[in-house]
Amino acid sequence: MAFERNRDRDIVVFGAGAQWRSHSSPDDREQQSWDKKSYLRWKQLCFDEHARNVRFKERSGLTVYPARLVYDQSDHRDLAPTGDPKTGDGFWFRNFVDGFESAVSARGADTSYASVRYRSVFIDVPIYLRYLLVQVNLLGGQVIRSKLPDANGIAGAVEAASELVEQFIGPRRARKCLFVNATGLRARQLCRDTTVHPVRGQVVVVKGVPKEAATRLSRDEKTGESILSYVIPRPLSGVTILGGCNQKNNWNTEEDPEMSAQIKERCAVLAPELLTGPDSSFEVVGCQVGLRPARTGGARVESEAIRDRHGDVRCVIHAYGHGGGGFQNSIGVAEKVSRLVAEVPGDSRARLIPEKKTLQFDLEQTRANDPIPPPPPPTTKPPIPTDQPNPPPNPASYEVNRRHSRNSLDDGEDMISAIFLIIIAIFLPPVAVFIVAGCGADVLINVCLTLLGFLPGHVHAFYVLYVYYNRKEQVQQGYYDDRPAPGVYSQNVQTGGQGYGTMGAH
Ligand SMILES: Cc1cc2nc3c(=O)[nH]c(=O)nc-3n(C[C@H](O)[C@H](O)[C@H](O)COP(=O)(O)OP(=O)(O)OC[C@H]3O[C@@H](n4cnc5c(N)ncnc54)[C@H](O)[C@@H]3O)c2cc1C
Repeated sequence: MAFERNRDRDIVVFGAGAQWRSHSSPDDREQQSWDKKSYLRWKQLCFDEHARNVRFKERSGLTVYPARLVYDQSDHRDLAPTGDPKTGDGFWFRNFVDGFESAVSARGADTSYASVRYRSVFIDVPIYLRYLLVQVNLLGGQVIRSKLPDANGIAGAVEAASELVEQFIGPRRARKCLFVNATGLRARQLCRDTTVHPVRGQVVVVKGVPKEAATRLSRDEKTGESILSYVIPRPLSGVTILGGCNQKNNWNTEEDPEMSAQIKERCAVLAPELLTGPDSSFEVVGCQVGLRPARTGGARVESEAIRDRHGDVRCVIHAYGHGGGGFQNSIGVAEKVSRLVAEVPGDSRARLIPEKKTLQFDLEQTRANDPIPPPPPPTTKPPIPTDQPNPPPNPASYEVNRRHSRNSLDDGEDMISAIFLIIIAIFLPPVAVFIVAGCGADVLINVCLTLLGFLPGHVHAFYVLYVYYNRKEQVQQGYYDDRPAPGVYSQNVQTGGQGYGTMGAH
């Protein structure tokens, strides 16, 4: 997912709220199942005891927070096809979200017709995207940043991607790689899919955090147009996102000052406690504009067999067109993509992750409580040529490499190696540094400090060892502080020996 403004202007989604507020209609079972999986998984992660111990919320940017949906009129189905806020009927998610309740307003100060309340999950987007990147690295994934050409459509992009990964895994395996196309709005060009279109959103970022999040669905009395207003807290950053608008086919990524003024006016009613600026105004931090990568008919999540320039058949799994719900459906969509990957015959699956320890990343708990049946498996499989037996599909789990799986043997090994290193550091500090940092700037610094007198060399060596083992411990517990420790140059030390790294490839 993109967060930063892209120079190419049209691939952009950034500054998303973001919150879990399902847009699914009562009868779209697949969309519901995606959204539900994200909600349950995020909630489980937020409340997990272990996660709390390692400050999971602060690191992941996920928070469970009270939320309110406010409807101004009785024709709410037109505004948001969810359910009847007066009774709570038809809100398909009412049985699994925490604290769901509905209330009819006396049309007092807030002028609303009815509202529903529940505890939702809120995503502090910059923190969450960084957290996801760290997870990819912890799981052994390698990130390569590069713009793929779209002149020759998806086949050309796949070929260019193949050439990139070739540098890391060699040409034979690269030709067997499977690709996931999650290019958002750019899929319009890459897949020649004209149903992909932008839905412009503008938000105002203000200081402070409201007591509850709110989304209001109303209608302009003069024009009859629907109006979306929302107040999305980012408690971890101490700011709130005020929105919003849904402008279909509008590619403009510049701020519309008039729109910002309207947003502030509408949101002042929803969160008056944030009016802490001069003359009871919001304390504005900034404005952001993003283009939601929407698709007429809903997201496309399916596999396709394409033929490249050499006539080889390649498998692409498309996952684009998520519009304004790409965060809230992400876990469910990822699970479907994982299932599609498992269904690809032979050795065509990507093998960028070294097969060391594997873990069944279990979503059974989510599924056990899920009354919604999973979508039926696709009947056709892409005709990928294979020289390997077809591995049995395992739709019940993601199989991922996990470097931080831990057992007592690992503990013992770490303890012995740490003791040896400490002994070495006492007698030969540069050697201890060399063992964890390799030949590089850290060893050079330590040699110089040791020549100045043993004490500075000792202090430096123990500092390097501390960073190394501290990072190693973090990774083993399943989280990772990606801010570099000061004064340490070795990547191996910074990552506790786990090889974290993002590389550019141009
Ligand atoms: C104002 C606003 C508020 C929102 N609020 C919410 C919310 O509350 N909840 C929610 O769930 N969602 C929300 N969204 C929507 C959410 O941000 C999107 O659904 C989500 O970002 C879509 O993710 P994606 O990965 O499909 O596409 P994107 O985020 O657009 O990512 C596509 C990526 O593909 C890359 N790419 C494309 N083409 C190429 C190429 N040729 N070569 C290399 N890279 C390429 C792009 O650089 C980009 O990084 C909001 C969006 C906006 C704008």
